[in-house]
Formats: sequence, C-alpha cells, structure tokens
Amino acid sequence: MKRIYSNINIADRNSFGVKQQAATLAEFETADDLRDLFMTLKPTEWYVLGAGNNTLFTQDYHGVLFTPICGNRTIIESTDDHIIVRAEAAHDWDTLVGWSVQEGLWGIENLSAIPSSVGAAPVQNIGAYGAEAKDAITVVEYFDTQSMEVVRLSNKECHFAYRESIFKQELKGRAIILAVEFKLSRHAQPNLGYGDVISEVEARGGATLRNIREAICAIRSRKLPDPKVLGNAGSFFKNPIVDRTVAEALRVNHPDMPCYEVAGDQSRVKLAAGWLIDRAGLKGYRDGCVGVHERQALVLVNHGGATGGDVMRLAHFVCMRVKENFGIDISPEVNVL
Ligand SMILES: Cc1cc2nc3c(=O)[nH]c(=O)nc-3n(C[C@H](O)[C@H](O)[C@H](O)COP(=O)(O)OP(=O)(O)OC[C@H]3O[C@@H](n4cnc5c(N)ncnc54)[C@H](O)[C@@H]3O)c2cc1C
Repeated sequence: MKRIYSNINIADRNSFGVKQQAATLAEFETADDLRDLFMTLKPTEWYVLGAGNNTLFTQDYHGVLFTPICGNRTIIESTDDHIIVRAEAAHDWDTLVGWSVQEGLWGIENLSAIPSSVGAAPVQNIGAYGAEAKDAITVVEYFDTQSMEVVRLSNKECHFAYRESIFKQELKGRAIILAVEFKLSRHAQPNLGYGDVISEVEARGGATLRNIREAICAIRSRKLPDPKVLGNAGSFFKNPIVDRTVAEALRVNHPDMPCYEVAGDQSRVKLAAGWLIDRAGLKGYRDGCVGVHERQALVLVNHGGATGGDVMRLAHFVCMRVKENFGIDISPEVNVL
C-alpha cells in the first residue's frame, strides 16, 4: 500500500517540531510500491524521512519525502545460542529493544530508549553506552533507486564506523532501507563499562537484561529532554576524533578533559563534544526560542516557535565558541535540509 500527500505540514514528523511544508510526502510498504512511486513521481530531489528524530528542516522541502510504513518483525532463525530477527524499516526501534529484553535476548539492550525507526538505525549506526547497532546487525536490505532492485548487504559491506555507514557515504541519495536483520544472543553478555550504567544496574540488583534496560532508560530520561515536551534531535554534534597529540596538548591545560580510545586506531582519540561545549560556557545558553540544553550541552533545543534557521544560527555560534576555546572543529550529527 502507498499514500501520497501534497503540500503537507511536517511539524509533527520531525522531533525539533519546526513548522515546514513538504511539496510531496509518499508513504510506502514494499519495493514494488517504491518502483511505482519512482515511475509516477520521477523525483529529481528526494529524502527518506523515518521518524524524523535526526532531521532538521531549515526550509520547506520541494522534493519528495519517502516514509516507510512497513513495520513487521519476523524471527528467521532460532538456535540454542541465538536468534536472527528481521524487522522492517518502520518498526519502532525501542519496541524492538523492549521485545528482545522480554524474550531474554542479548545484544541491543544498551540501545534502549533511542528514538528511531529500525530503517534509520544502520544509517548512522546508532550507538549509546558502549554499544552500537552494528554489533547486532547481520544484514541490511535496501531498495536501490538506480537499478530499482532490492539489494542485501552483509554487516561488513555496510562499512560501519562511529556514527557512520555506507548509507551516509557511497549509498547516500541512492538506498532506501526496507528491512534490517539482527543476531541476538541467548547467552548473557552484559556490557556495563560505560558512564554510570554499572552503579545504576547494581542498584537494581545486578546485570539482568531487565535491570540494564531500566537503568539505561532512567539515566537517559534524567539527562535528555523528551522531544514531545522540548523539540530536539538528541546529540546535535558528533564527538570529534582528533590526533592523540592534539588531545595530549589540550590536556596540559585541561587535565579533566575526557578522551576515549578509537577502536583500531592508536594514533587518534575521541573527545566529548558535550564537555567542550559545556567548558566553552554554553550549557544552558539561550538565544530567543533556541538554546543549549541545561543538563546536556550536546543537545540543542527548540523552546517553542523556532525555525530550522534559528537552530542552525545557534549551531554555528556553538561551533565558533568551541573553536575559539579549544581549537577543535565540531560538526553536526543531525541531517540538515
Ligand atoms: C532525544 C533523542 C535522543 C537521541 N539519542 C541518540 C543516541 O543515544 N544515539 C544515537 O546514535 N542517536 C540518538 N539520537 C538520534 C536518533 O535517535 C537517530 O539518528 C535515529 O536513528 C533517527 O531515526 P529516525 O527514524 O527518527 O530518523 P530520521 O531523522 O527520519 O532519519 C535520519 C537519517 O536516516 C535516513 N533514513 C531514515 N530512514 C531510512 C530508510 N528507511 N532508508 C534509508 N535512509 C533512511 C534519513 O534519510 C536521514 O539521513 C537521539 C535523538 C533524540 C531526539
């Protein structure tokens, strides 16, 4: 089934809640729907809009927004060790995590409460609390808008990295993800070594799946604003990865600056963009209807009535202040249209 909307208000389809119009929004279920839509609409400009939690519209969208509405979930393999589950693009991410925890399946529990559609999860390889979607993904199935065929990519072929994948590089503007397959373990494999997860889990009685999920949901709801109350897209900026020598030089004057190892790259380290913004004096900063969140400096918020342009002006100001204070460039994680 497919549905086409013309001149549609998309304020309730983006988590910043900015009021923009889209010339055309096409909802689809299958690859056949997409073939028909591409033949009929012949879009010269298009974008896939999932649940809109990582997209900032700075103007009306004049092309076609494609939104998946297929959200089924099927177990395609089950052994004593693991299962492989296939979830379609419109499946809500946290519903998948909740289901895995209920079924006693390990692998994505640390990614609890990330607002996402399943189809968007591989795009930036969503991650939190020491886990990433890539740790569980086995296959991503997408519609190739050049060949009009369905293609299956293995985990390796997706070129996953920190907030990166082939879908943000070579396949950007070409692939529309239809479904993702995940391998989840029946054996306990708690991953508690990040932030205050371990103490929260211990306070709940130990490392069960349910306790880990509850702990992470509690930590996140304390730190992050709910987009339904205060428009935002989570972390607005990526954590910058810099040469180890640059970080060591900064640590002379800022010995408490957090640095994280980059897997497979001894020469570089990851800095915490939120710490840099905080230390640049911007936590809780407000400029009219936009601001830096008072509890998490990585999050830019819409206090009500902001446009995408207002958010971007603030983003540029934040980047400039971080550059002035630390000489470090930070860049948006959010997709800006
Ligand atoms: C409060 C809050 C907290 C957050 N916390 C985290 C966090 O801890 N970790 C983290 O990694 N992210 C986090 N985010 C960001 C967000 O959750 C992720 O980026 C998520 O994957 C966005 O999903 P979406 O469906 O809403 O994506 P959208 O905004 O709709 O799309 C995001 C990107 O994916 C593309 N896309 C979407 N669906 C498809 C598809 N089917 N095929 C091809 N491309 C597609 C879009 O074109 C766009 O490039 C947070 C966001 C919010 C609002």
